[in-house]
Amino acid sequence: MFGSDSAAASNVSKKRAIDEAQDFSSSPRRSKRTRQSINVDDNDTDSTALESETPKKRARGIVTNGNATKSQKKGTEVKTEVEEEDTSEIIESKKYFKSVQTQRSPPVKDSREVKEEQIEAEKKETPSKSVTKKQASKKEKTAEMAVPLNVRTKGLQMFVGAHVSAAKGVQNSVVNSVHIGGNAFALFLKSQRKWDNPALQDDHREQFLKFCTDHQYDAAKHILPHGSYLVNLAQEDTVKAKQAYDSFLDDLKRCEKLGIKLYNFHPGAVGQSTLESATSRLAQALTKALSATSTVTPVLETMCGHGTTIGGPLSEIGAVISQIPKEFHSRVGVCVDTCHSFAYGYDLISPEGFKSFMQEFDDKIGLQFLRALHLNDSKAPRGSKRDLHANIGTGFLGLRAFHNVMNEERFQGLPMILETPIDKPDPAYSQAQANSRSKEGDNNNSEQDSDAPKMKKKNQPKKKPLGKAPPTIEDKSIWAREIKLLESLIGMDPESVEFRALETQLSEAGRAEREKHQEQYERKLETESKKKQKELGKGQKNLADMFQKGKKGK
Ligand SMILES: [Zn+2]
Ligand SMILES: [Zn+2]
Repeated sequence: MFGSDSAAASNVSKKRAIDEAQDFSSSPRRSKRTRQSINVDDNDTDSTALESETPKKRARGIVTNGNATKSQKKGTEVKTEVEEEDTSEIIESKKYFKSVQTQRSPPVKDSREVKEEQIEAEKKETPSKSVTKKQASKKEKTAEMAVPLNVRTKGLQMFVGAHVSAAKGVQNSVVNSVHIGGNAFALFLKSQRKWDNPALQDDHREQFLKFCTDHQYDAAKHILPHGSYLVNLAQEDTVKAKQAYDSFLDDLKRCEKLGIKLYNFHPGAVGQSTLESATSRLAQALTKALSATSTVTPVLETMCGHGTTIGGPLSEIGAVISQIPKEFHSRVGVCVDTCHSFAYGYDLISPEGFKSFMQEFDDKIGLQFLRALHLNDSKAPRGSKRDLHANIGTGFLGLRAFHNVMNEERFQGLPMILETPIDKPDPAYSQAQANSRSKEGDNNNSEQDSDAPKMKKKNQPKKKPLGKAPPTIEDKSIWAREIKLLESLIGMDPESVEFRALETQLSEAGRAEREKHQEQYERKLETESKKKQKELGKGQKNLADMFQKGKKGK
């Protein structure tokens, strides 16, 4: 769901985005209103209301949301204020995130900066009101435009953002991150499902650097590109290993050209070989890449331990790093993916569990190597070893885990990247079609694991006329809300009424999905134990046979 094709989206989503941009725009009067209200009101509340409303409706939204800040507002009430285009289809998450966002949000430190961000965004493109929707839909959409879904919170020590699209050039990722109010972001530097890619264009590079300066992103600290899913540096096959290494090194060099110092990648898989040899191949490839570069830090991501993937247990990552010469250690990093580590089996929910995870990280790897986080909830239970990202607070991790994360002082200054699902059925299609589609959609989104199978999904065109694949659109306001939600957890008392209400609300929204995956997991465990018993039975029989034969032989 990430990457170039995610934003090379369907015409429908293009149209919608441009329609939105049009809706949000920016007659001088309106943008003045926007800025005024930011100074006066709680800014998130305001920007929620901004999402897709006419000024009149928005005013109504502000009143409602303003009142909602303390008392728990039911999703439906907020929903009616905001949804215009999406009346036919509203996914659950949208409802609760709307209300979640009205709950509490950190104050924006500097409203002047907020204004500047918005003016910047408005400058990018202000579709004239006289342009019809049809005309607008013909325009090429390269990056998010117009007024951001949420303004960025300034002055925090926690840098939260999402894996945004870099379609049509890396420079667009900057604007896309501004659009959702991210203070950090991830992107793919090139297509993650092709081996051959055009070189980084000079004009893209220059624009990227300029946008980073304009929007005050520290590329060295808060931008964390994600490596290709095709690359397995632990690969045994020498030809494939060379291909993987070349692509990896090419990405690292792109980072250096863009002033980016952190580069996240998956450690890879053992395949048919042994863990020891795979670890050693991975460490060797990394060492070689480190010698061939000078400023970038490759960051190994923790994994869920599915199949033969390396990096489930923290000790496996520690083992890789220990085989890299010390002179390079300042340029080696680790990224904790909350979904992956939890699905592998680590308890990140209880404060004690979280504390011992941090202790084990320090013991097996060393906290000095911790450079980034991927913030995802998990649709699958702890220990399931399934990579299924859920929206924050709706999965098995729940809001408590993210409270631990957002209040962990040792995470200050690190990029924290959301990779949560934002696809939803395309509301442009009829309800009936949507109903029949949603079953397939479930399969696509939930049955397949979040990372590798994404590629499979990607090989299909995102939108087929009326074919099998259900057309989906991306709802980036989900990220905008999740960023604010996470930021709001900083300093929040987890025993407060406020926290408990949020926790319950989000948990309820994810209940059905969790139950489904709990059942799947239990069925799998059952099958496995039956298989084991069968094998055990066979083994005993074989032993008995051998014993018999042995007797006869003597
Ligand atoms: Zn991740
Ligand atoms: Zn994942």
